[in-house]
Amino acid sequence: MPAVQTMFPALGTVNTITLYDTPQKLPADCARSLICSLDRSLSVFRPDSEISRLNARAGCGWTEISPDAFSVFRESLRCSELTDGAFDVTAGPLSALWRDAIRERKLPSARDIRRARRLTGYRDLQLDDMNSRARLRKAGQSVDLGGIAKGYAAGRAAGILRDAGVSNAVINLGGTVGVLGRAQTVGIQDPCRPTGTPLGSLTLKDAFAVTSGGYERGFTIDGVRRHHIIDPRTGTPSDSGLLSVTLVGRRPAELDALATAVFILGAEASMPLLRERDIGAVFVTEEGGVFITPDLSPDFKLYRQKGA
Ligand code: ADP
Ligand code: MG
Repeated sequence: MPAVQTMFPALGTVNTITLYDTPQKLPADCARSLICSLDRSLSVFRPDSEISRLNARAGCGWTEISPDAFSVFRESLRCSELTDGAFDVTAGPLSALWRDAIRERKLPSARDIRRARRLTGYRDLQLDDMNSRARLRKAGQSVDLGGIAKGYAAGRAAGILRDAGVSNAVINLGGTVGVLGRAQTVGIQDPCRPTGTPLGSLTLKDAFAVTSGGYERGFTIDGVRRHHIIDPRTGTPSDSGLLSVTLVGRRPAELDALATAVFILGAEASMPLLRERDIGAVFVTEEGGVFITPDLSPDFKLYRQKGA
């Protein structure tokens, strides 16, 4: 039976959902509308999203939020605790500052960095379970779900497909990939080559692979690469010696948040956390090394050594 596929823009990327062994397109269309509606409610780039409404009310009390926003926040806060704040969903002021810097190719002032850093702190995002509300304690604070939204959306889409009885499928949200059922081989982006050029491939079965890297957006100034993943400890783009990290496991929202954190913390510091949670990893370092955790070695194929 031929595969059915839907391809669409959302979450700042191009997404594809492919179903195998079924003539029905309906489950893919349902997953697609869910992803588009998550984009509408979770994006900081839409002034009418519920996240933008919450941010606009920072320091002014509670805002009612949807069950999806509530779940993403809860998962975000859990990942912040796990990573000692390396992943911080309240890094909105820092992300915005560096987004402007990257666009204008101009470093922000030390004063602006200090101010944005002071506003970042996941403990200031408070959740009210009983009434489905959230609030940011200080004026000027903002949440930014860019580091977790795709993973969360991939998990929700997988749930919709499973509930519809789909047994074999691939969900690809711009590099955040999920494989349902039968084993499939997926490419891992080469951080030094144009988008779509794989460094190697991974065979996944009922698993997700999520990549974080500073290669897609950014600029180099004084020989230092500035990108969009910010270390909340310094208020500047992370500099842990990694070009990219791919995490493999079963919980995509957690994987997405942790991939962002691991990219900030570096390979060595992250290994205990990954081992404890049974998460596999492919690290690409600035020196050109490609390192994989032993559990992934039977499923990983390296196409070329970086720089070769
Ligand atoms: P990608 O953008 O390729 O999906 P990530 O999942 O690593 O990569 O997300 C990066 C995004 O996460 C940034 O664009 C920004 O919106 C947000 N972000 C940046 N730094 C942090 C951080 N320390 N904690 C949480 N989110 C962050
Ligand atoms: Mg992430």
